[in-house]
Amino acid sequence: MTGEKELHKIVIVGGGAGGLELASSLGRQLGRKKQAEITLVDASYTHIWKPLLHEVAAGSFAEADEIEYLAQAHRCHFQFRLGRMEGLDRDNKAIFVSPTVTKSGDEIIPKRVFNYDTLVISVGSVSNIFNVSGVNEHCLFLDTPYQAYRFQKRLVERYIRTHTKDQSKNKCLSIAIIGAGATGVELSAELLDVKKQFSMYGLDDITVKVTIIDTAARLLPALSEKLALAVHKQLHKLGVELKLGQQVVGVTEKGVRLKNGDIVLADIKVWAAGIKGPDWLADLDGLEVNRINQLVVKQTLETTEDGDIFAMGDCAACPWPGHDRTVPPRAQAAHQQAITLAKTLTNRVQGTHETIAYIYRDYGSLVALGRHSTVGSLMGNLMGSVSVGGVIARLVYLSLYKMHQIAIHGYFRTAMLTLSNLFRRSTHARIKMH
Ligand SMILES: Cc1cc2nc3c(=O)[nH]c(=O)nc-3n(C[C@H](O)[C@H](O)[C@H](O)COP(=O)(O)OP(=O)(O)OC[C@H]3O[C@@H](n4cnc5c(N)ncnc54)[C@H](O)[C@@H]3O)c2cc1C
Repeated sequence: MTGEKELHKIVIVGGGAGGLELASSLGRQLGRKKQAEITLVDASYTHIWKPLLHEVAAGSFAEADEIEYLAQAHRCHFQFRLGRMEGLDRDNKAIFVSPTVTKSGDEIIPKRVFNYDTLVISVGSVSNIFNVSGVNEHCLFLDTPYQAYRFQKRLVERYIRTHTKDQSKNKCLSIAIIGAGATGVELSAELLDVKKQFSMYGLDDITVKVTIIDTAARLLPALSEKLALAVHKQLHKLGVELKLGQQVVGVTEKGVRLKNGDIVLADIKVWAAGIKGPDWLADLDGLEVNRINQLVVKQTLETTEDGDIFAMGDCAACPWPGHDRTVPPRAQAAHQQAITLAKTLTNRVQGTHETIAYIYRDYGSLVALGRHSTVGSLMGNLMGSVSVGGVIARLVYLSLYKMHQIAIHGYFRTAMLTLSNLFRRSTHARIKMH
C-alpha cells in the first residue's frame, strides 16, 4: 500500500474533432498536475480532422497534418490506447474494447476492459445508407481516413487506366456522388480541381464527369437557400451535373439506379447522403438513442440515463433551444462541446461538480469549392447572416481548421506546422499520385 489517493479516471472514446481537443485540454489542465488520469481510446493510430477527408480522397491533403495519437498523448499528458469500443457495463463502470488484429487476421492486442469514473463518448458518425441496395458493395464512403485513402487510390488507378486506354476510345472518367450536402458538394469541386493538376502532370486527355444526385430539390438542404444558390452557380460553372429531386433506389457495378428508371453510369460511386450514429450505440447498456442512433444527451451533454457518461459531437443528440431539431453534426459544434466539457470535467475532478450547459453558437457555414473558391454565410443565427465569398471566405474557412490545430498543438506549434507546410508545398507534388 502506497497510501496514495487513486486518481479520478476520465476515459474519452473517439479522438476526432471533439475528442482529441478534449483529451489534449484535460491532459494539459489535469493530467500534467496529476489531478486526474486521462485516457483516450481510438480505433486508429492517427488523427486527421474529418472536414479534410475530401482533400484526402482527392489526393490534395498535406500528410504532415496527420497526428500520431501516441506522440500527442506524450506531449499533452494523457494516455492513448488503441482499440475499438464495442460494449459497456454501467454497474461496473467499464468499457469493452475489441481485439486489434492485423489485415491478415493476426491478433496484436487482445480484448480489453477499461474502468472509468467519468466516460465521454465521442465516436462520430457513419454514413446512413437508408437500406438502398448495392450501396455497401459498390460505393465508396468518406467516413474515415482509411476510406478516404482508399478512394484516393481508386481515383489514381482509374485515372491511369483511363489514360492508357486505346487512343481511339473516348477517355472519360465518370464519378457519381450521392448526396448534395457539404461533403458531396466539396468533394465534387475538389475532384475537378485536382483534374487540372493531373493534366499538368501529363494525364491530360481525360474528360472527368462529376454528377451529384440527391432526393432533395436543392443543394445543401441543411443550409440557407441563398448559400445553396451561390454554390449552385459555382458548380454549374465548374461543369458539375446536378440531378436533384431524384431518389436513388439501387447501386450496381455499372452505376446508380434512380426511381424514375434512369441509370447514371459511373466508374466511381460515392455515398455521402446523410449520417447516423454507429449501430453499436443502440445497444449500450440501456443508454437512450434517437431514431438515427445518436446518444440522447441533456443540455449539459450528460446522457439521459447516466450522469457519469457524457456524449458529444456527431454521435450525440443535444437539444438546440429555440429550434425544432438537435445541434447539427458539425466540427464547430464538436469544438465548442469540447470546450464546455473540459470545464465541466475539471469541476468534477476538483470537487465542485458544477455541470455547464452547452448552447450551440452557429457562427455560420462555409463551403470550400476547390482551392480557389469558398462561399458561405457568417455569424449564422447570432447576428443574422453576412454572405461572404472569395479570399475572405477562404481565409475564414481555413481559420476553422487553425482553431482545431491551436486547440491541439497550441499557437507556437500550429505556426510552425503552417510554415513547414508552406515550404513543403514549394518542393513537393501538389497531389498524391500513388
Ligand atoms: C468531407 C467532410 C467535410 C466536412 N466539412 C465540414 C465543415 O466544413 N464544417 C463543419 O463544421 N463540419 C464539417 N464536416 C463534419 C465534421 O467533420 C464532423 O461534424 C466532426 O468531425 C464531428 O466530430 P466528432 O468528434 O463527433 O467525430 P469525428 O471527428 O468523426 O471523430 C470520431 C473519432 O472516433 C473514432 N471512433 C469511431 N468509432 C470508434 C470506436 N468504436 N472505438 C474507438 N474509437 C472510435 C474515430 O476513429 C474518430 O477518430 C465535414 C465532414 C466530412 C466527412
